[in-house]
Formats: sequence, C-alpha cells, structure tokens
Amino acid sequence: MSRILIAEDDVNIASFIQKGLHSAGFVTTHVADGGTALLLARGGGFDLVILDIGLPVMDGFAVLRQLRTEGLRLPVIVLTARDAVEDTVAGLEGGANDYVSKPFRFAELLARIRVRLQEAVPADAGLHLEHGDLLLDLRTRRAQCGERVVDLTAREFGLLEMFLRHPDQVLTREQILKHVWGYDFNPASNVVDVYVRTLRKKVGDSRIETVYGMGYRLR
Ligand code: CA
Repeated sequence: MSRILIAEDDVNIASFIQKGLHSAGFVTTHVADGGTALLLARGGGFDLVILDIGLPVMDGFAVLRQLRTEGLRLPVIVLTARDAVEDTVAGLEGGANDYVSKPFRFAELLARIRVRLQEAVPADAGLHLEHGDLLLDLRTRRAQCGERVVDLTAREFGLLEMFLRHPDQVLTREQILKHVWGYDFNPASNVVDVYVRTLRKKVGDSRIETVYGMGYRLR
C-alpha cells in the first residue's frame, strides 16, 4: 500500500484529493504548509508527495528545492494554478516528476500518481531479500547477518531464499523439498533437516525455529 503526503493549504482541494486517494486504496497524510511538508517528506515513510506551489511558511518550489538538495528522490507531483503553468515548469528545473494544473479531474491526478509510483521502483529492487538484520543478496548469493557476511552453498542459498520469501510462515519439509530440491524427493529423507542444521550454523541458531510436527519457520 502506497503512502502519499499531500501538501495543500486549500481545505476543499485537500479533502477532494484525500477522499479520492482513500477510495483508490492509498494511505494519505495531509499538511497545510510547506515547512511541515518538508519535515514529513524528509522523515521518510512516504512513496510520493503531492505538493501545492502556493503554500504558507515555505512555498512548494522551496520545499522541492530543499528535498532535492538533500538528495531525497521520492516522486513529487506539483499542483499549480492554470495561469501559472509556464512559471511552474520553469521553476521546477527538473526537480519535480510531474505537475497537474488546477482545476483538475481526480482521474487525471490518479493516473499520474500511478505512473510516478511505477517509475519510482528503484533499479535494484528485488535484488535482495531481508528480514530483521538478515539480508540475502540475490546476485552475489551471500547472506549478511548483522555485520557478518556469510557464503552459502547453492542449496543453502535456495533454502534461505525460500525462508526469506515467507518470513514467519511455517514451511513443511515437503514444501521445502519441492521448492529447493525441485523434484519429488522421498519425504522420509532427512535432507531438509540436515540443510537447516548447516544453515543455522551459518546464520545463527535462533533464526530458524523448529515447529514440532510441522516444519520450520524463519523468525
Ligand atoms: Ca495554495
């Protein structure tokens, strides 16, 4: 679920945007001045900012400039008055990802939000999995446990990847066999238990718990 920060001092426009975004399944936070917008955007936790230009305390241009100066790259869609579009485009200097001129239809804003959220997926997304302080790099096939880097065999890697894709879920021996060994292994085989044991030695005993009579779970 994406979280959107709305910085807009016009209460009618703000509530129009909020209502629309809620029914589209987004989580929103609304602020009415530029200073608060900057603070919250800086604090992280948002996937996109809808930023009005004419804001009290600090205008939208200043907020955007500050965010980009600090290296924050989250997508920003600027709201601007129709008669100020040219000034707005000039003022953005590439810092905003998009703008929408007022008045706008909600569908138009929503379409732009969806495009920007898709673009914002970082280039290296999906190249590692993590859970707590355990991190698995899918390219180098190395695990990192806190500060420690651990080399894994192919089976250990497959096993840890499966646990990390299903954290806190009980995985049965049969599921693990099928997924990691890729063929119907004799269910009476203890190969899973053997590999869980070696994996525990590498990443720490307490991370993978035995669920009696069922299987294993990554905590
Ligand atoms: Ca305004």
